[in-house]
Amino acid sequence: MKKTGLLASMLAALAISAAPAAQSQELYWATSGFFGPFNIQGLIPTFPKAKDITIPVSMWILKHPKGIVVFDTGNNAAISDGADNCKKYWAAGNCDFLKPSQKRSDVIDQQLAKLGIKVDDVKVVVSSHSHLDHSGNIALFPKAIHVYQKKELYQGYWPEKFQGRAANGSFVLNDLVAARDYDFFELDGDYDLFGDGTVKILSTPGHTLGHQSMKVKLASGQSVIMSQDAIWMQENLDGYVAGLNYSVQAYVNSVERLKRMRDLEGAKILMAHDAGQFASMGNKWHK
Ligand SMILES: [Zn+2]
Repeated sequence: MKKTGLLASMLAALAISAAPAAQSQELYWATSGFFGPFNIQGLIPTFPKAKDITIPVSMWILKHPKGIVVFDTGNNAAISDGADNCKKYWAAGNCDFLKPSQKRSDVIDQQLAKLGIKVDDVKVVVSSHSHLDHSGNIALFPKAIHVYQKKELYQGYWPEKFQGRAANGSFVLNDLVAARDYDFFELDGDYDLFGDGTVKILSTPGHTLGHQSMKVKLASGQSVIMSQDAIWMQENLDGYVAGLNYSVQAYVNSVERLKRMRDLEGAKILMAHDAGQFASMGNKWHK
């Protein structure tokens, strides 16, 4: 009896150590409400014809054996539940153009709660960049390690003049200031987050000075690239260059980089603001 018990526990230990870490990697795709409808040419001036789009504001929740990761925290909770609230926190022009439909229940803390995850259980918050729809709720995670490209923090606190310096503009200063004393991990380029090759931060500048994307190897072995604003939507993949760039040259190089990963590694590109992709893959776990 004892021997059988010992054998069983040895076998169990072997099974645990033999299981590749990647097996428990699961990714949830959430949205911080929607933007729109508005004319796509407002975002992509190179697109040849007017059409109205309503787009998600993508946020990602990753379960990894070494901890829970959130990639982007969406729009600040303060803009929830109507244009009046929006205009108290964001510039009125952004509320009028983007038409955010976020409800309080769409905000990242509530999204996590729906999945049975507490805000303080999140180990790492990675932010693609410091724009209003991506870094809006970093302050909700005081216990997490916050991962940015160092240059992006410079950009967020003091944007180039042509990107707008209103404190409630595309870079909302209060989103960043509210978390100023938190634990920031400031990168300069790519980074292998857990040292096992399953979660890679990719430097993809252009949309902003220090934009970053993330590549994850799922339990199935499929790699996915969360481009966030390096590639907003299918039309950008089709070659129509986005507006609002810090550097068009860097933007084009970053799109090219992610396309090469797609084609050479077989990685799937998941985009921040693509309505069609979110309709089929959003609000779901991916393994
Ligand atoms: Zn965005």
